[in-house]
Amino acid sequence: MLVVRGAAELERIVADRRSQGDVIGLVPTMGSLHDGHLSLIRRAAADCDLVVVSIFVNPTQFNDPADLVAYPRDEARDLELAQAAGADVVFAPTPAQVYPEGFCTTVRIDGPVTHTLEGAVRGPQHFWGVATVVAKLFSMTRPDVAFFGQKDAQQCVVIRRLVADLNIPVRVEVCPTVREPDGLAMSSRNVRLVGEDRQRALALRAGLDTVQRAVAAGERGVAELERLGREAFAPFGVEAEYFAGVDPVTLHPLERVEGPALFVTAAPVGPVRLIDNVTVDAAAH
Ligand code: AMP
Repeated sequence: MLVVRGAAELERIVADRRSQGDVIGLVPTMGSLHDGHLSLIRRAAADCDLVVVSIFVNPTQFNDPADLVAYPRDEARDLELAQAAGADVVFAPTPAQVYPEGFCTTVRIDGPVTHTLEGAVRGPQHFWGVATVVAKLFSMTRPDVAFFGQKDAQQCVVIRRLVADLNIPVRVEVCPTVREPDGLAMSSRNVRLVGEDRQRALALRAGLDTVQRAVAAGERGVAELERLGREAFAPFGVEAEYFAGVDPVTLHPLERVEGPALFVTAAPVGPVRLIDNVTVDAAAH
């Protein structure tokens, strides 16, 4: 496995493999790799001839400077895990390499996809930071396929919008959320859940499970499903920042579950904000 710091070197390696007809896969990450990331890398290794994993803690997508400072980093461990999962190249640039002197472009996506839910809490600038760095990674790597996790459902919607709106020639694959045995969605921030906070973090899963059960039992009213979901947080002493049933493609609020519906939630637990989601489908019941 090669570790690459500069864009020029990355472009050279990838261009060489592309000229041999190889299928290029890209897995963008912020490092601190866990089984969720590794599932994306394994999937990329199964589907592609060359797997590029980027590791870059992107400062422009952090709305809270304290969160950026506290974000866990362990490159040596990440490199071992990435290699074992099937990465061929790890691209790990410095912020100055990604945003050199004079950089002044932002990819700005508007509408509900960036202004609601996470965008309402963190500001749409969070997603503009994501869109800008992902557009830049796409330009540097020119992958055939890029792999993202359903864990960050709204981010996936934003990336699909980016690719469609700018005609970026990449296929976006969204992979299922990987969870701890007790249902907590894996996240790099989970290492900061200590003591009782680890148990309290199960509130999100409990809320989403409640929605799933209620839909299976015939409930279709989204306001009622949201109420039930929020109510399930109470025993954990956690309050949802938002708990919403939305259209999985546009993120528009839904009134009834008639086809696929995405339920998304976020909550502060101890020192971290957690997010989670589930897709339910009326047609499946
Ligand atoms: P991050 O390093 O948090 O920016 O995540 C990098 C990629 O891994 C994103 O596409 C995430 O959606 C994905 N990811 C993070 N956690 C999980 C998880 N628990 N299951 C599946 N994918 C995940």
